[in-house]
Amino acid sequence: GEFRLLDFDRLSVLGRGNGGTVHKVSHRRTSALYALKIIHRGHPGAADEVDVVRRVDSPHIVRCHSVLPTASGDSALLLELMDGGSLDSLVGGGFPEAALAEVAAQALSGLAYLRSRRVVHRDMKPANILVSRAGQVKIADFGIAEVVSRAGNHRAAYEGTAAYMSPERFDTERLHDDGEVVPVDPYAADVWGLGITVLELLMGRYPLLPAGQKPTWAALMCAICFGELPAIPDGAASAALRDFVAACLHKDHRKRASVAELLAHPFVAGRDLTVSRRALCQVIEHR
Ligand code: ATP
Ligand code: MG
Repeated sequence: GEFRLLDFDRLSVLGRGNGGTVHKVSHRRTSALYALKIIHRGHPGAADEVDVVRRVDSPHIVRCHSVLPTASGDSALLLELMDGGSLDSLVGGGFPEAALAEVAAQALSGLAYLRSRRVVHRDMKPANILVSRAGQVKIADFGIAEVVSRAGNHRAAYEGTAAYMSPERFDTERLHDDGEVVPVDPYAADVWGLGITVLELLMGRYPLLPAGQKPTWAALMCAICFGELPAIPDGAASAALRDFVAACLHKDHRKRASVAELLAHPFVAGRDLTVSRRALCQVIEHR
């Protein structure tokens, strides 16, 4: 291949997770900067993540330039560096609606692309959506993503961060009141995760639990499956934004809006592109 691991200098750690560590690296000869994600061989899903990143190529998905073997038998993904970091570092600093519309629009474009490749991300949350200082928004981290097969042999429903799991993913029996077994639309979980992300950026904190409540699994499951959506104070959001969030967060996945419907929603489709892009750049700059 074009790249070898020994051609890179490690500069700093960008993030750490279950799967491995992400380093900021520089290519010695060209001085170009990248993110290098080491995925430990023994980590469940390591092979799936490599398969999925090889399958996707879109302006709204973090690009993987190369998959490199390490001496210890792990895999290293050479990723494009997103110099604005992840959205979780922008929670709490105030997020104007125009900037929120830009995040939603670009993330939805990413989800529309994934759908065309039959990929479900399954871990949509602020830490897995990255931004550049130029105002680009891209989906990252395919650690528990899955290619939807016609056979419908899905991976374990409980993987991922409970706080961002959709109600139907807690309901593994998929048995409804009338005793009917409802087939789950696997793509609807990613719309839910995006809805929580938008609401979290708007409110400045995780929206489904009261500030200070411990996010135990039971508390989260209760809030997600049975709790009401938090009240957004008058004047804190436009009618379009309220409606957008509600459309993403229908507890019944059959009523939840699809990615295509959300791309046409006034909150996203009606935004002024120049204004919203500039607003997002300002949020990133002033973090
Ligand atoms: P897993 O969920 O499989 O355990 P992870 O959460 O450890 O994976 P990522 O989400 O891919 O791994 O990366 C962790 C963090 O590192 C991200 O939240 C982000 O802050 C940072 N990061 C990852 N990739 C990039 C990148 N390409 N550019 C800049 N920062 C990145
Ligand atoms: Mg992650």
